[in-house]
Amino acid sequence: MTEPLEQSNPYALTLSSLGWGQGVVCLVCQNCDWQFLVGTANKPQDCPHCHTNQLEKYQDEDFSKMEDFIKPPELYLPFSFPQEQLNEKIQNFAKNIPFAPDDLRLDNLQTRLQKIYLPMWLVDSHVSATWQSECGYYYQVKSHQEKYSGGRWQTQEVIETRTRWEPRLGRLGRSYQNIAAPALEEHRRLMGALGNYEYKKAQPVTPQSLLQDSVQPPLVNIPSRDKDDAWPDTLPRFQEQAMEESRQACAANQIREFRWKPEFSNQNWTLFLLPMWSSYYLDDENKPQSILVNGQSGQMSGTRRASMKKAKKISLSIFIAALIAFALTVVVGLISLSVQDLAVIAGIGIMISLIIALAAIYPIVTAWNVNRDR
Ligand SMILES: [Zn+2]
Repeated sequence: MTEPLEQSNPYALTLSSLGWGQGVVCLVCQNCDWQFLVGTANKPQDCPHCHTNQLEKYQDEDFSKMEDFIKPPELYLPFSFPQEQLNEKIQNFAKNIPFAPDDLRLDNLQTRLQKIYLPMWLVDSHVSATWQSECGYYYQVKSHQEKYSGGRWQTQEVIETRTRWEPRLGRLGRSYQNIAAPALEEHRRLMGALGNYEYKKAQPVTPQSLLQDSVQPPLVNIPSRDKDDAWPDTLPRFQEQAMEESRQACAANQIREFRWKPEFSNQNWTLFLLPMWSSYYLDDENKPQSILVNGQSGQMSGTRRASMKKAKKISLSIFIAALIAFALTVVVGLISLSVQDLAVIAGIGIMISLIIALAAIYPIVTAWNVNRDR
């Protein structure tokens, strides 16, 4: 007897057993390797990151290899930037590009608008450490200054604040919560485009409420950096907190030269999501140009590309107008051989033709200038 080949693996770790519930799928872009989780009811067709490929369903039913990367998030920042202001921003972006490509239209940008949640790692860890540092204590010094005013010398009391530095050392045993670290390879570039997020406004979230949005269903981006890659980025954050607590423990006003030997234990890794809108338009070469908007602050960033084709067309029309003006001038010039008074008009005609011919350069130069600033 032969076993059927297609048999579902009873040990498979499915999205629903990871806590995502029913009706969630994992989609992959073969071009840029970005991976997303999304509600099945609202699957997007195109990759909202590179915009050049169709998203495909992740083939395997078993997510055990990706388990750490697709655990439901602990915290998120909701999309809080008002929709009307977003529309206004997109409109201004489209309006402010001279000789814009035909595809760069408000309605196109709006229909391609996609909500994406970008992941960050959050680490909890217990830390035991010995530390040493210099703690600064403020003290005030009274001195006297002589000042000449109103025809005589006057003595003025001056109080100055100085810092007294004292060495300190200690031992620390603490648990720190929610230390954030980038979970995407492109985190730095994305944050450069999107600006800062106010982490203080983070809220707890469930997968069900996260993906519930019938108007603009969001995609949850899956981390591309693993814990080993992200761990070194958390160390300065742990140190900042330990340093601040050591300062408080010493009742010092300032702290410097902080050195410590930390040992980390009981680590717990979860995910934190940041809101972003993405959209795009096609330039002259049909290449998608991305537009990214911070879902909290509304900071927008996009490549500005003018259409050189359009600019050249307009330049050509202006140049033809110059040629027509010149041809008329030549006619007037020929007539002026018999009618002397027309000579002045012919002269003005030549000037006007020259000015129009020069103006023909303007569209090309403007478009070139826009495309040069990347
Ligand atoms: Zn892609």
